[in-house]
Amino acid sequence: MTKENVFGLFPFLAFPVKICTSSPLQFPLLTGEKINKMDSLRVSALALASFLFLSPVVHSWGVDGHLTICRIAQARLSAAAADAVKKLLPESAENDLGSVCSWADHVKFHYRWSPPLHYIDTPDNLCTYQYDRDCKDENGVKDRCVAGAINNYTSQLLSHGNSASQCNPSSHPIYNYNLTEALLFLSHFMGDIHQVWDDNIIETADERFYDSNVDGLVDALQKNITNEWADQVQKWENCGGNKPTCPDIYASEGIKAACDWAYKGVTEDSVLEDDYFLSRLPIVNLRLAQGGVRLAATLNRIFG
Ligand SMILES: [Zn+2]
Repeated sequence: MTKENVFGLFPFLAFPVKICTSSPLQFPLLTGEKINKMDSLRVSALALASFLFLSPVVHSWGVDGHLTICRIAQARLSAAAADAVKKLLPESAENDLGSVCSWADHVKFHYRWSPPLHYIDTPDNLCTYQYDRDCKDENGVKDRCVAGAINNYTSQLLSHGNSASQCNPSSHPIYNYNLTEALLFLSHFMGDIHQVWDDNIIETADERFYDSNVDGLVDALQKNITNEWADQVQKWENCGGNKPTCPDIYASEGIKAACDWAYKGVTEDSVLEDDYFLSRLPIVNLRLAQGGVRLAATLNRIFG
């Protein structure tokens, strides 16, 4: 458990509210993760070969991908959830969840237990995901993957409204959660679990179709959610039973999309160009929309 105050080391993220001294996850310290950002969409198949589903060597959706998912989600919140999110967000965010959706990436190297929570490392050549088999870190510690993290931070946020959860030093430590951080982690990880590619496809789409303005992408996806995908939205939101969230479903879809699309038709020496971009962009758009809809559905179930 770390007692350090992350905001002291990251003054640009100076959230002046709701800081508890306890770590939200009591994991041991780990070494930093490897990040390998590809320079452009023209990546060789050799590079793609190391492109495992949600692997630690893959850069995230990027700021625009996470911002898009959080903007879509915030616009779909119930009144109660919107109010709770507004109160939990740091003042500096000015009630814009999207603006702090990449916070979890910025604190990876300070919260050194957190990098394994950004991905799931599924076995090579297997296009399936199983929580019990796959949700662990490189040391084999169970629950330390993005699906486990979504369950964990959802559980923490479900304690919202419980006075024992409000950073009360006299409360039982298990309830002494920092719900602001829990919200930011959950919002980010809901993006990560829907990730199939890194941010190159999103950045290229932004440049080509939206004048490099991510608001254009958000608007386009919101229109698709209410039109083209309207009959699918309820299915995306539904977890079955009374579950507040269902990361195993999201992860299973992700590994299938990676196998069906990310690697499909790619050989070792091929160079990925426009055909690849144009055929994969619809999948990226779909995953961004699903991430936003599901983050909203989860927060609506959490906050009522
Ligand atoms: Zn991440």
